[in-house]
Amino acid sequence: MPRESKKARRERAAEVCRRMGELYPEVRSALNFTTPFTMVICVLLSAQTTDAAVNRVTPELFRRWPDAASMAEANPDEVGEVIRSIGFWRGKSRHCVEAAQMIMADFGGEVPSTMEELTRLPGVGRKTANIVLNKAFGIVDGIAVDTHVYRISCRLGFSKAPNPLACEQDLLELLPQELWGPVNEQWIHFGRDICHAQSPACGECPLADLCPSAFRANGNPDKGKAVPRASKRRTKAK
Ligand code: SF4
Repeated sequence: MPRESKKARRERAAEVCRRMGELYPEVRSALNFTTPFTMVICVLLSAQTTDAAVNRVTPELFRRWPDAASMAEANPDEVGEVIRSIGFWRGKSRHCVEAAQMIMADFGGEVPSTMEELTRLPGVGRKTANIVLNKAFGIVDGIAVDTHVYRISCRLGFSKAPNPLACEQDLLELLPQELWGPVNEQWIHFGRDICHAQSPACGECPLADLCPSAFRANGNPDKGKAVPRASKRRTKAK
């Protein structure tokens, strides 16, 4: 593929977003939450776990500790007992309680609504904060880049970043802010439905004519080269 100008890449990225909007005109969070606090807890629990698994434990969790005030008083071991069917439950139960304690101590019991404040909460990185800002407060301050968004961005040639955090910066630079909002959920759906990690369905992909990895990301000599390996260094991208 000849070298692509920035302008051409921006136009291609905007067209990708337009087609994603056609594919997934109505996207909503699969997590069951009712308040900014329950949203924070849901997203915190969802790392490395399916939304369905989170939704199975949160009814009992929020029955016992429905808000920051009650969760701040909880014993992390008891929270752990309730969420132990999901991955990394020990660390997550600690983060739930510690985040609630900080919300009570530093934010008057209300979940803060800025990126800077949200990312001070234990267990909350840019990805979680972006989702909470967007879903709980209607604020679009970035793009939550999870494993699907990261993989698709790399395959589409929008990023060569070594990790999702750096990939977010590439996307923010590439896309105008008015296109940021739906990227996370639309691209997650697209990653689950079509652009799978192992066997992307390029033959039925509506983006194939825009994608430099089409028919190359799987079953050919370039397999594995399209997506840079994530940095082994731990990053706060939760
Ligand atoms: S053409 Fe293939 S690799 Fe490219 S976005 Fe579509 S499914 Fe993914």
